Amino acid sequence: MQNLLNNITDVMTQATERGRVADYIPQLAHVDPKHFGMAVATPDGQLFTAGDATMPFSIQSISKVFALTLALGKQGDGLWQYVGREPSGDPFNSIVQLEHESGKPRNPFINAGAIAVVDAIMMGHEPKEVLAELLSFVRYLAGDDSLFFDHEVAESELKYKHRNASLAHFMKAFGRLQHDVDKVLGAYFHQCALAMNCVQLARAGLFLVSDGVNQASGSRVVSAQRARRINAMMMMCGHYDGSGEFAYRVGLPGKSGVGGGILAIAPGKASIAVWSPGLDQIGNSLLGTRALEMLVQETGWSVFGH
Ligand code: GLN
Repeated sequence: MQNLLNNITDVMTQATERGRVADYIPQLAHVDPKHFGMAVATPDGQLFTAGDATMPFSIQSISKVFALTLALGKQGDGLWQYVGREPSGDPFNSIVQLEHESGKPRNPFINAGAIAVVDAIMMGHEPKEVLAELLSFVRYLAGDDSLFFDHEVAESELKYKHRNASLAHFMKAFGRLQHDVDKVLGAYFHQCALAMNCVQLARAGLFLVSDGVNQASGSRVVSAQRARRINAMMMMCGHYDGSGEFAYRVGLPGKSGVGGGILAIAPGKASIAVWSPGLDQIGNSLLGTRALEMLVQETGWSVFGH
């Protein structure tokens, strides 16, 4: 595994076509596209790393997996009255389906759906309390108390909020959000601004590898059924309108973020985090996807077979 990661990292470090870094906020636009990191965590506690695996980056939409897990814990199946669970086939920040589907977002991983999930987590609490809960949950999952929200990123998301604010107000107009729009957005922007490195992210995904149990720490996070369902959501919706392509090339439940990170789950085998800031047209990490494709090609870890 270590040799494989070294080989993949060599290939990715030399790649000249690296995609384009997100430029909707300066904090992401200024990240060097040359970074590449990867970490593989296994249920028996092994960890393999290569490249910039310990350098923190903005996990952005990968946080939607953790928020979904928290929301299901609070609302159970009741969550599905606020958000659907079908792939959207549209870009992550699209508003078009919302109008046709009376303000109910297709799934928890597009922005509108993630905003609805934050609203469902709040349950009358202030954003500060919700964020404290989310942070301690992700720290617990990763087994690392040093995780933090990058407040500069959150401030910037707020400054350039217009697209997400439109989605939120549009849902509010349909009576889909229970809480004040600005409070929901404030919490959503901080959630996206979670900074993590590949090692922390791979460890945080371990509960999805082993039927809801983080075997490395011995703690049950969710039921086996819930873990299976979260993996299904990641497979079908985790890469937005690129989810079909990701399933075709990699064949693992995965969640991407515009910071260039991807968390991928090989059930029963490993939790994998990869980071390369350059994105493809859809907003998924270009080399991150290539790296995962190489990994499954060698390991046979795709859920669809060798
Ligand atoms: N913060 C980003 C946004 O709201 C998250 C999107 C993403 O990572 N794809 O636009």
